[in-house]
This record gives sequence, C-alpha cells and structure tokens, in this order.
Amino acid sequence: MTTLLGFEIVAGIAVVRLENPPVNSLGHELRAGLSEALDRANADSGVEAVVLIGSGAGFSGGADIREFGTPKALAHPDLRTLIREVENSAKPVIAAIGGVCMGGGLELALACHYRVGAPGARIALPEVKLGLLPGAGGTQRLPRLLGLEAALNMIVSGATVASEKLRGTPLFDAFGAGGGAQVASGGVPPRAASAGRPASAGGGSPPAGSEGGATPLGAGSDGDLLATALAFARRVVDEKMPLKRVRDRAVDMPNAEAYLQFARNTVKAVAGPYPAPLACVEAVAAAVGTSFDAGLKRERELFTTLMFSPESAALRHVFQAERAAARILDVPDDTPVRPLRTVGVIGAGTMGGGITMSLINAGIPVVLLETQQEALDRGLANIRRNYGGALRKGTLTEQSLAERLALITPTLDYAALRDVDLAIEAVFENMDVKHQVFETLDGVLKPGAILASNTSALNLDEIAQFTRRPQDVIGLHFFSPANVMRLLEVVRGARTAKDVLHTAMRLAKTMGKVAVVSGVCDGFIGNRMLARYGAAAHDLIMAGATPQQVDAALQDFGMAMGPFRVGDLAGLDIGWALRKRRAAEFPGRDSSNVADLLCEAGRFGQKTGAGWYRYEPGSRHPIPDPVVTDFIEQYRRRQGLNPRAVSATEIVERCIHALINEGARILEEGIAQRSSDIDLVYLNGYGFPAFRGGPMFHADQTGLHDIARSLQAIAAQKGSDAAFWTPAPLLVRLAREGRTFSAFKGSSP
Ligand code: NAD
Repeated sequence: MTTLLGFEIVAGIAVVRLENPPVNSLGHELRAGLSEALDRANADSGVEAVVLIGSGAGFSGGADIREFGTPKALAHPDLRTLIREVENSAKPVIAAIGGVCMGGGLELALACHYRVGAPGARIALPEVKLGLLPGAGGTQRLPRLLGLEAALNMIVSGATVASEKLRGTPLFDAFGAGGGAQVASGGVPPRAASAGRPASAGGGSPPAGSEGGATPLGAGSDGDLLATALAFARRVVDEKMPLKRVRDRAVDMPNAEAYLQFARNTVKAVAGPYPAPLACVEAVAAAVGTSFDAGLKRERELFTTLMFSPESAALRHVFQAERAAARILDVPDDTPVRPLRTVGVIGAGTMGGGITMSLINAGIPVVLLETQQEALDRGLANIRRNYGGALRKGTLTEQSLAERLALITPTLDYAALRDVDLAIEAVFENMDVKHQVFETLDGVLKPGAILASNTSALNLDEIAQFTRRPQDVIGLHFFSPANVMRLLEVVRGARTAKDVLHTAMRLAKTMGKVAVVSGVCDGFIGNRMLARYGAAAHDLIMAGATPQQVDAALQDFGMAMGPFRVGDLAGLDIGWALRKRRAAEFPGRDSSNVADLLCEAGRFGQKTGAGWYRYEPGSRHPIPDPVVTDFIEQYRRRQGLNPRAVSATEIVERCIHALINEGARILEEGIAQRSSDIDLVYLNGYGFPAFRGGPMFHADQTGLHDIARSLQAIAAQKGSDAAFWTPAPLLVRLAREGRTFSAFKGSSP
C-alpha cells in the first residue's frame, strides 16, 4: 500500500489516515491508496466501520492541481470514482474533519456516511477561484446539507468558512469540543471518548511545513478529533445507525426557482469576464428538481466546459506562477536565512511610510529614520491616517493599532540603527543622496546586517559599491501604496549573497507579498516593460488616437486602468523629471513627450486637478479636456505628423505587443528567471487582467508566431523607429521553433 496513507485497526474501527504533506492533496497515488484501504476494510471481518482522517495541515486541501490537464487526473480511480466507492461502502465511513477541508477534500467528506468536525477546521469549495466549479459532486451534495442559499454562497464565492459557523448544520453529525464531542440534534450522544484507543493510534508525523497558510489541526488537537471520531464510529456500529447518504436527502428551500433567478441576476452583474460563477449557479440549480444523478451529469458538463475555458487556464497559471516565483533556481531551499528581528527604514515619505506599515502589520519592529523632526512627524501622522480606513471599517481595533504603532521607534540619529538586522532605504530617487545614505549605513550597521534599497530605477550594483559589503546589498522594490500592493520586486545585484536573497524572499512571504526576483537593469522587470507600453501608447496618440480612446481600448481588454489615467494618478512630473535627467545624460536624443507640454503648463495629473484629463475638485473622475487635444495637435505639427483613424484593435495590439516584446528581452537576458515571474509582476503591480494570465501567458495563448509577424509588420512601416518594434530575438526564435515562453528555461545551454 502507498506510503501516503496510514491504516490501522483500533478496537474494530479502521483508521485510514491521509499522509500526503503539505495538505493531503488527492493525487492519483493517494486516491488509489484510499480505494485499496476501503476494500481492505470492507473485506476484513474484524472491521466494523472506517474513520477517514488527515494528518498535518488537516483533512485534505483537495485535488492535486499539478495533475490538472494531465492523464493522471483521470487515471483510475479518479476522484469521482473514489467518491462513489466511499458512498457505496457496505461499512459506515466517517470523515474526521480538522484543519483544512477544501475542494475535493470536502467533496470526499460529503460522500462519507457521517462527518465529525473539530473546532478550527476551515471548510471551502474554492474551485471558482481557479475558474472552475466543484466537479466531484460538491454542487449537488453541499446544498442537500446546508440548504440552497448557504451552499450557493460558499460555491460562488469560494470563501472559507470556519467549522464553528457550520456547527449545528447537517454537515456535521458530531462536533469535537475540547476533550469530547457533542452530537448534532437527531444524532446519538457520545459515550466517553475513551471508547477508542489512545490518540496516538493513527501515528503519522506532522509534515515539515504547510502550504497556503493552512492551520494545523487547531483547537481540538489531532488526538481529540480522532478520539471523538472513534467514539462516534463506535456509536454508529453499536446503535446500528443506517448508512446515511447525502444523495438521498432533498434540497431544503421553498421558492427555489425564484431564488435561483435572483442569484443568476446578481452573479451575472458582478462576474465580469469570468464564466465560472454563473456556471456554479447553474450547477447548484441542477440540485433542485432533478434526480441526483441528473444533477451530477449537469455538474460534469459545466465543469468540463470550464476546464477548457481560457479564463480557467489563466487562473490556474497564476496559481502555479505564485508557487514557482518563490523558487530561485540557484538558491536551494535549505540555504540559511538571516534572522530579521528589527528592521530600519530610512525615509518616512510615501514609500517609507507604506513599507513601515507592511513590516509592523507582520509584527516586525521598525526603527524609522528621517533627517528632520518635521518630516518624521509628518511621516508618522501619515501612517496613522492611513490606518483610518481599517479603523472605520472595523477590520482593525484601536487596541491592535496602538500595538502596531508601538512597534515603531522614530529617530533622527543613525546610531539608533546599530542593532537592526535589515535597513530599507526609501529616500529621494537621486544617486548622490543614495550614495550618502549607503555610506553612512555601512559605517553604522552591524556585520551581517542586510542593506536594501527601494530605488525604482537606479543601478543597484552602483549603490552596492558605496559600501564595503556589496554581498549584503539587495533591492526591495515595493509598489505604491506599499502597504496595499502585493508585488515586491526583489532585485538581485551582481554580488548579492544567496542567503540575503533567501532572507528577502522569506520576509516577503511574512509580509504577505508576492515576491519576484529581478536582475539589475533600468526599471527592473516592471518599469522597464512599462516604459515600452507607455511609449507605444504615446505613439498611438501621435498617430491620431485620443488619450481616452487608448484608455478605453485597453480597459476593454481588461487592464484595470488605461495608461493615460495611470499617468494622471501616479503624477506626470515623475516621468518628466526622468526624461529631463536622461536628456542631460544623452544630449541629442529626443525623448520628449506630449506630457512635457502638460507639465510645463503645470498639469501634473490628479494632484493638480489636470493632466491628460481634467478633474473636478475632490473627484477622480477623468474628464476629456480640449486643452489636451490642442497640446497633442501642437506636438504633432512640431513633429510633422498627420493624424489618421486608429482602431481599438490596433491600440490593444500595439501596446500589449510592445509589452510582450520587452518581456521577451528581459527573459532572454536572464533579468527574469521565468516568463511566469513577468506575468506576476504585471498582474500584481500594473493591473493586468488575471483572466488573461499575464502578458507572457497571453502571448503564449495568442501564438508567438502571430505576435512576431505583427511586430515585424509595424517595424517595416516605421523607418527611424523600426528598432523599437523589431521583435526580440528570443520571440523570433521561439516562434520559429513553435515553442512558448512558458517552455523557455533560460538562455544558457
Ligand atoms: P518621498 O519624497 O515621498 O520620500 C522620501 C523621504 O526621504 C522624504 O520624507 C525625505 O525627507 C526623506 N529623506 C531624504 N533624504 C534623506 C536622508 N538622507 N536620510 C533620511 N531620509 C531622507 O519619496 P518616495 O515616493 O517615498 O520615494 C522614495 C524611494 O522609493 C525613491 O527611491 C523612489 O524612486 C522609490 N519608489 C517610489 C515609488 C512611488 O510610487 N512613489 C514606488 C517605488 C519606489
């Protein structure tokens, strides 16, 4: 029998324990093992009932997503077959539910004849988050236990519900509480928990770690839960309780049809481009008024359609991309991690404040340094103000806010940084200022402390040279607002030590960020690509489009906001300053932009009430402005350009293909480790739509051949600007070989 399973007979009850860390996912080997264990229990005259229980993180986190789309997912026994075998078992099967019980794990538990719950268990059918629906009976069985409305809410939202909230529903036949169990109404009161043998019966050591923040077995320990389940199983046997099958129950809901119509309308209004939520409603609807088997059939049809939908493929890609990003190719998992007990933050401006909030939210004490008392006071006041929203919403109490703020030690004195384990610099974006700060930090910090910069575009290797310890220098590029945005670009300098990188990735996880490793280049992964995207958007207004046409076309494609609206939000003065700096560095090169004219006229975007659009006082609603049209026309005349009609298709193709083309260069140069890392940057930092999976995944889906050809066609028309549009060598090569970005594993032989 498989090693992923424990099998033991305890006083006539077979205890079958799932032992597949980290979350007992139901891959083929475990499914086959469960089927075999069930047969063995049924064949053994010494066994009267079966208890299914998990180990480590809990019962089961569900299907093994790595099997999706592979023959293994369907290899016998598939999950639906296993579930049928459990439901048809001649001997009673009792699920002992603690910790995580999600997706296919919950569907398996729903097929058992009885369920015993434990406090702290986390129950969910989260398939909708991967663009799917529960495809192994969940949409048919859960409504039969929880009623239509509660089940539909869980299935459509994919939300996790605490087991305590479901206590008293027919989902649980008994519920562990401390050392004993309380049986749901209509059940049989338990005998003393000692009816079974001691808790150690199941054996199985807990896994080294659990993924996805899954909690361990929780308040009722593994032992309590097993004792409760064994006691309950004993009652089932002694009292000759029937083999209860959820499929035999009816869905409890008067006026079900009216409710379902209301649900369809509500879900349709909010689901946007995602087909799964509405399919969930249709599957649950099939649990009402048809036979159980007809409902299962309908569920399967809908599931299969979703499984082949581009939206689900994209969401599954994102799920896997997040797991892959945490792995650094040449930094093994067992690389040491430096302890981070206290962190220094240099600069209490926009970014320093947000970074401080991210750290104290994770419980990490911060020494916050500024040059002037006034700037320090302003920074602290901003931090307090930024927590106001959470206080008003009630997601944060005054008490916990006070505890978090108490973790900040404000200072004007570098000596206060003597004991920090990491210092994150977030001062002005100016190399001279960075030079002075890093030299000072090098003189003050203890040996082994990490020195990080939040620079958006300056050369990290140059910054590292300002210290005598370049191996301890790293980039931690947070996005604004740093306490909200999930993305963190971890910038690896030429000499950054592996343990420093590993420590930074751990810190990101502790702060709940999605960390992506980037090599050193101008703008790192995200801003380097953004520059190309912005230039393509500017090119389109030069060709004849209006900013609002460009924004609308890209928003229809799915971008959270079009590039000109983003410019107004971020402030046009930032790019203006950058262009002026570059013009000074590269005299003779024209990097001018219509935005220069806007900035010269004092239009910096939302903060000045006007930029590419105008804004009414206190409003963020962009209003097209004829003044901008005049500026654009003036600029076109200066460049000798004649406007033409530009279609929405052309807008999307040019901007997105420019983005992809730069992504290809970044991948080829090894700045990004893998194409899915680039996707994560765009999804989490730049509002790229998740249903398209990120720019590189989108390119793979579109076909690299088509993208390369379209870029070549633009380059051929462009004359002096041909280099901008020429497809990257990697893109051309992969297109010729019929390969994808996802399959590209690096440039080295
Ligand atoms: P900011 O102007 O809001 O804040 C900078 C702060 O640094 C100010 O409070 C200033 O008083 C302080 N400061 C300046 N010199 C200092 C010194 N020598 N010692 C201590 N404090 C000093 O700027 P910001 O927007 O927070 O940007 C900070 C850094 O973060 C820059 O490198 C910027 O490129 C980068 N960044 C900014 C954003 C963004 O959207 N604002 C995003 C990512 C990264």
